[in-house]
Amino acid sequence: MPTETRDSTRLKLSIIACTQTRPTMFVFREIIAKDYFSTSTLFSANYLSQGIYISVPFCRTKCSFCNFASGVFSRALFDRYVGQVCAEIEAADDMARQLGGQLDRHVDSIYLGGGTPSVLAPDQLQRLFQAVRKNFEVEPAAEITVECAPSTISGEVVDVLLGCGVNRVSLGVQSFVDKESSSVGRLHTRAITLDDIARLRSSGIGNISIDLIAGLPHQTEESWQLSLSETLASGVPHVSVYMLEVDEDSRLGAEVLAGGSRYHAHFVPDDDLTADLYLAACQRLAKGGVQQYEISNFARPVTHGIGLRDSKHNLKYWTRQPYLGFGVDAHSMLLAGDDLQATGVDAVRFATPDSLEGYSAAANDANPIAARAERLLASRTLVNAQAALEESFFLGLRLNRGISLASLKVRFGDQAIRTCERVMAELISDGLLEHGADRLCLTSRGRLLSNEVFARFLHEETINHRDTEAQRIL
Ligand code: SF4
Repeated sequence: MPTETRDSTRLKLSIIACTQTRPTMFVFREIIAKDYFSTSTLFSANYLSQGIYISVPFCRTKCSFCNFASGVFSRALFDRYVGQVCAEIEAADDMARQLGGQLDRHVDSIYLGGGTPSVLAPDQLQRLFQAVRKNFEVEPAAEITVECAPSTISGEVVDVLLGCGVNRVSLGVQSFVDKESSSVGRLHTRAITLDDIARLRSSGIGNISIDLIAGLPHQTEESWQLSLSETLASGVPHVSVYMLEVDEDSRLGAEVLAGGSRYHAHFVPDDDLTADLYLAACQRLAKGGVQQYEISNFARPVTHGIGLRDSKHNLKYWTRQPYLGFGVDAHSMLLAGDDLQATGVDAVRFATPDSLEGYSAAANDANPIAARAERLLASRTLVNAQAALEESFFLGLRLNRGISLASLKVRFGDQAIRTCERVMAELISDGLLEHGADRLCLTSRGRLLSNEVFARFLHEETINHRDTEAQRIL
């Protein structure tokens, strides 16, 4: 890798590592599935179905690299938590109104993430899906995903998933090399994972995604190729590749930064090698017929090369379609209601508390609904037109297909797009963006330096607007 690229790869680590299910993401109607930005009518709320995300913050063990709002809790808490999430789903209509957002009852994607949703008891999983189906109209072709840790998928769990209409499973594999998995606290082995994949497939759930992490302790170029070989040989239609995030928010990251050796920190590959592993994955997966469609995401063609088995839910995040999150540390984005639209607001974003304690505190209040609304309001960001345009750039550019400038002009006006022309021209001249047939895309080099590219689309005034708005509410 060229030195310049090596020096800059650090910049991309966080953005590549932070996507999955985060402010995380539905089967669009056919026209939307082809290209959200292809026609101005798609920006009408009438064409956008809702995505639903439910966070289950419980895990059997806490992986050393994990900085998510998840942990190991007593099973005695599970039932209460499920009850709180169901109550939150029941109150979704009121909540959306109080936050100034539009709520579409049509749901075309549901995503249970966390955490490890498959640790819930069968009746608890059923209650969550019943609450969603009671309060929303789930489209027959909806994509319904549940994140599972390999080795948590018993025959009973598979039966419950099928009974709940689940048609996609995302498996947190991270590595097919047992030494690497165990070094970060995972409880599964390669053999267990392959067995889980076979059992899911034979039960009828063939739409399986595998998560891999580049940069795990003990990982080498050779061992990484083993994980990629197993991934390709498994034939799963979707793969997500993240680079290990080294920061203070995880035990492993903090130990690496401190130069210690706990959690196998001294066996963590350096940034250069981690970046090389990521690039190797892009090349190897492409050769194996698994095409990159987003910075961290890869999918096989559906049939005969038409369409991809991409994550419809995650596409909502990157194409600014509405989604509603429930549970701990769940993020939402709704189109602004009429009152806010009249003041120039395009959308509202808000999030639930990022700890189980904080989330559950509202349930103990004398008026749980009001307490919950107060917390959500405190997190609310009003996205004005300028911020919405910037989001369209830096979220849409994550996708390999990029964005359509013509559609952005229809949506935001010629004048607004003109304000970004200088930045676009600079980035094209720097070899980070390319512009062809109306679409603006990251180049390969731009994908490596995506954080730099995205930052260039952010105006100072927008950042200040967000800060001011947050202060006003808090
Ligand atoms: S299973 Fe997933 S959410 Fe749970 S600790 Fe491990 S990485 Fe974090």
